[in-house]
Amino acid sequence: MSTAKIFEIFQSLQGEGPYVGLRQVFVRFFGCHMHCFWCDTPESIGDTTGQYKDMTVAQVFAKIKALSKDCHSVSLTGGEPLMQVDFMAQLIPLLKKAKIPVYLETSGVLYQALGQVIGGIDIVAMDIKLPSSTGQRAFWKEHEQFLTLARKHKKHVFVKAVISSQTSRKDIVCAVKLLKQIDSQLLFILQPNTFDLEHGVVEKCDHFQRLCFESLPNTRVMPQMHKFMKIQ
Ligand code: SF4
Repeated sequence: MSTAKIFEIFQSLQGEGPYVGLRQVFVRFFGCHMHCFWCDTPESIGDTTGQYKDMTVAQVFAKIKALSKDCHSVSLTGGEPLMQVDFMAQLIPLLKKAKIPVYLETSGVLYQALGQVIGGIDIVAMDIKLPSSTGQRAFWKEHEQFLTLARKHKKHVFVKAVISSQTSRKDIVCAVKLLKQIDSQLLFILQPNTFDLEHGVVEKCDHFQRLCFESLPNTRVMPQMHKFMKIQ
């Protein structure tokens, strides 16, 4: 049976986006193809440490089952869970059979991998990676493919962009253009970078929200609540 590199599995409250405060089981996959400046789980990226467990599908499923009492759903997060999509493709049917909803947290880039598992996913929490925020190249085409696929399968999808002191107006304009052409009613979340709050980022979010409203009326500014609560 195949295994996945798992950084940790735990139960906690969702701290981001419209599902804030709901209890979930979090399966944090190890490894990420991105290197965002502000990554809040750098230990799960795989650059500096190799602290993961190789776990089988049966082991991960058993752990989820043991932790799932009172939980709304299981969050497959990372790192980037879609980097281990073959494992996800084996795990998700077990979750469906157990009637545990599947919530995917993703960088929103690996659309081919998404295509292998989208049928079993209930909620897609997708990042849009703004190059001025991440310090990486732009992924507009990949984001467009990813979002189009999630929408085509009629999944509940919302999009989040982390706003840092480096985030440019130009990138926000590009993101809005992309999202609007797919669905002008999409929920778009501007998330101030928690590590950058002292540097005018909240004011920047306020300004960007007004800019977004012209095309995307469902734009919200939402911080990472779990960081304020100092929980996992
Ligand atoms: S995509 Fe997520 S896990 Fe990967 S480096 Fe960026 S913030 Fe970290």
